[in-house]
Amino acid sequence: MGRRLGRLGLVIRLVLTTALVLLLGARVPFAFAQDSLMAHVRALSVDIGVRAGGSAAEARAADYLEGRLRSWGYTVTRQAVPLPWGASSVNVIAERAPGATWIVGAHLDSKPPSPGGNDNATGVAVLLECARLRAEDGVRFVFFGAEEYPAQNRALGHHFGSRYYVGQMSAQERAAISGVVVVDAVGGGPRFAIGTMRRGDALPRRLRVVAWKLGFRAVEDVDPGWSDHEPFFVAGIPTAYLRWRIDDTLHTAADTYAHVRPEKVRAAFRVLQAFLGSVGKRSGSGR
Ligand SMILES: [Zn+2]
Repeated sequence: MGRRLGRLGLVIRLVLTTALVLLLGARVPFAFAQDSLMAHVRALSVDIGVRAGGSAAEARAADYLEGRLRSWGYTVTRQAVPLPWGASSVNVIAERAPGATWIVGAHLDSKPPSPGGNDNATGVAVLLECARLRAEDGVRFVFFGAEEYPAQNRALGHHFGSRYYVGQMSAQERAAISGVVVVDAVGGGPRFAIGTMRRGDALPRRLRVVAWKLGFRAVEDVDPGWSDHEPFFVAGIPTAYLRWRIDDTLHTAADTYAHVRPEKVRAAFRVLQAFLGSVGKRSGSGR
């Protein structure tokens, strides 16, 4: 009897151990799904590195995005952006179907000597993951070139890609856009900030409500136009930005992949994904 119980105990231990191993194994795919955000951050900030507006590295970043987006079934167009010092930058525009009513944007360049881990490989990664995991007919993903001030001369200006993009839109195209959400530097800083250039606007408030429902304590934020929402706001189109503030490494060599906090990027991704799910028209391709 005693030996029988001993054998039973061994069997129970074997079954429990097997169950534990299976359970842990089942967790691995979820871990990989979360890591794909950081894989994009790594590709941009480590494999490509410093991506000044109008540089060959910025063009390589555009190639990376275009390849991914095409593989997920998007129609991708590249818009050449003339820069005042004679170089050319690029906007990468992706849609699953024409007739988008929402634009989400993130800049793909970085300000030397920064490899742009947080600013702005994180924003690009958030857009890419939303593009990969959802099949939105109503959303246009725009990756803007040359958002940062050029290193050689701040007086030349900034937001070249987004200003050029807005400048090329017809009055009808502008009127067809319900809103623009820009994701910039969402991988570092203590405060999850969602706002635009004016206090009390409806679109940032909607996004904050989405964040709160997901359990993220996003706060209202107002800026003088520090990212690609600026030209859209000036053109009278509803805008909002997602950002974690304040990250002291921005525009320095310390803004590396290792510096980026995955859980902050993940929070921004979840808010944008939930928001797009509430406004976009699903294509039903089940991707
Ligand atoms: Zn930025």
